[in-house]
Amino acid sequence: MRETSEGSRPKRRPLLGWLLPVMALLASLGLSYGAYKLASYSWDQVVSYESPYTTMSGVDFSGARPDLEDPIPGAEKRRVVVVLIDGLRDDASRTMASISGLRAKGADVRLTVPQPSLSYPTWTAIVTGAPQQISGVTTNWFEGPVKIETLLDVAVGSGRTVVVAGPEDLDTLFRASEVATATAISEWPEGEYATAGIVDDTLRLDAEVGGADFIFVVFPDVDNAGHDFGGASPEYAGVVAQVDADLARLIEGLDDGATTFVVLPDHGHIDTGGHGGWEGPAIRTSAALAGPGVAQTEAEADLTDIASTVAVLAGMQAPLQGTGTAIDAVLADTNGSARDAEFVRAAGITLSYIRKVLGDEGVRDIQSIDSPNALVSLRDEADQERLADERDGRFAVFLGAAFAMLVFAAIVGIASWRALLAALAGGATYAAVYNALFFGLHKLQWSLSAFNEETMVDAFFNQRMLEAALSGLAACVVAALVYLALRREPKGPHAGYAVEWLALGSATVLATQGTLVLQIAYFLWKWGAQVSWILPDFKAAFKYDLDLIQLTALGAAALIGPLVTWAIGRLHPRTRKARA
Ligand SMILES: [Zn+2]
Repeated sequence: MRETSEGSRPKRRPLLGWLLPVMALLASLGLSYGAYKLASYSWDQVVSYESPYTTMSGVDFSGARPDLEDPIPGAEKRRVVVVLIDGLRDDASRTMASISGLRAKGADVRLTVPQPSLSYPTWTAIVTGAPQQISGVTTNWFEGPVKIETLLDVAVGSGRTVVVAGPEDLDTLFRASEVATATAISEWPEGEYATAGIVDDTLRLDAEVGGADFIFVVFPDVDNAGHDFGGASPEYAGVVAQVDADLARLIEGLDDGATTFVVLPDHGHIDTGGHGGWEGPAIRTSAALAGPGVAQTEAEADLTDIASTVAVLAGMQAPLQGTGTAIDAVLADTNGSARDAEFVRAAGITLSYIRKVLGDEGVRDIQSIDSPNALVSLRDEADQERLADERDGRFAVFLGAAFAMLVFAAIVGIASWRALLAALAGGATYAAVYNALFFGLHKLQWSLSAFNEETMVDAFFNQRMLEAALSGLAACVVAALVYLALRREPKGPHAGYAVEWLALGSATVLATQGTLVLQIAYFLWKWGAQVSWILPDFKAAFKYDLDLIQLTALGAAALIGPLVTWAIGRLHPRTRKARA
């Protein structure tokens, strides 16, 4: 877009002049289409993740677990009741007299919930001791049943009577009706209060089987209130109070002086309602434990440690593939050799995990493991080692993307440094407008909690696409104004400069897409697009998905943006004056 003398210019412009904007438009549309494909591929990789760890057993190591029927030496067989209150925030749990009563005579355990903090994955973490990456349950779209062992399987396998009461998802995920001795399964309640009925069912079934050895109950109402009204709402607090009374009734009805209670949520809720992400109220929860075998204490643990803790308290084996370990501070005693048996199992599974992750390089000696913390760091080191290897191999992708952006900037800059500056100003405008809408106006975060309900996913992404396209057009407006300001005597399209004004729009949209491509390339370098052995950091993955969505939507801006810059060039007073 150099200003040259008239005469020679109009002759070559039709050929060469159109080349750049047309190529830029094609590049934009190509990026848009590629991003669309990659977004659905990446989403699918997480939702349909096939865990390679479901067949782990630890039998390769001396940590092979004994048969479930074999009594654990010295272990007392205790009756345990596990109550899962879906969506109960930590602060709300502290208003409940029933839970405060358990904490006063037992253990108050601060829990961290593995991500995504959605119900199916976290229910599964509770009853298997395995996080999403191992259980393969990454979302609520998971089509059950889970492929790894649960506390229900273990309890029944150990010859205990098992009672289960709660929503039908217990069948979907854990085959409760098939596995347990007696079950009361109901539909997920829509708009009506279900906990009272679930408590009635549990008390009735417990009496029918003559006192169950293991009871697992799920209360759905608090989660519904969280979604409908928000975790900080009075309506939510009201349902929590109602559940408090029913939980007190359940405890009173089941407590024979020899019963251990474990009450906990799967996850919490953000103030405005919703979970799935990394927010404190969603992933910082707490469990209350009380009864025989439980120490009076406060402790911190991971949600995946609950299954092992319950197993030791009950005097049975823990689910096979769980990576959690019994919370030692919570245990008043080791329950014979139950705690040691459980630790050996956890060590065996950890060694098995490391071998899966690192292959033959991952063989470790079980003797080297002396504490639960050692298991966590061993797994973490294995993850880091393989990730570092893969990142080395992917670094070229990131460099390639950065190089392509530099080449593009150089081409535009050589054609016109003013156009390059204008396009970059447009790109900055895009980032400012899009992010002001996302963070400022909508108060959103890079978090799965943004959806609140699964049914909102499509609307959420459609709105992001619309805003991305509009922000792209705002970028073109600013680019055109900057371009006008930079030229001493700007000429409008009427002066034979139509191609330049169109090219400015194309360059602006492509520059905007370029900054997104760099951010996407950074994620791909860190985590890759394929999810085959490790789940990505979900905050980063959410941002990555949104970047791809924006890149897709900017395809629309690539079609309309050039017309915007052209129209400004044609209609702006400065170019009109120049023409006159
Ligand atoms: Zn929920």
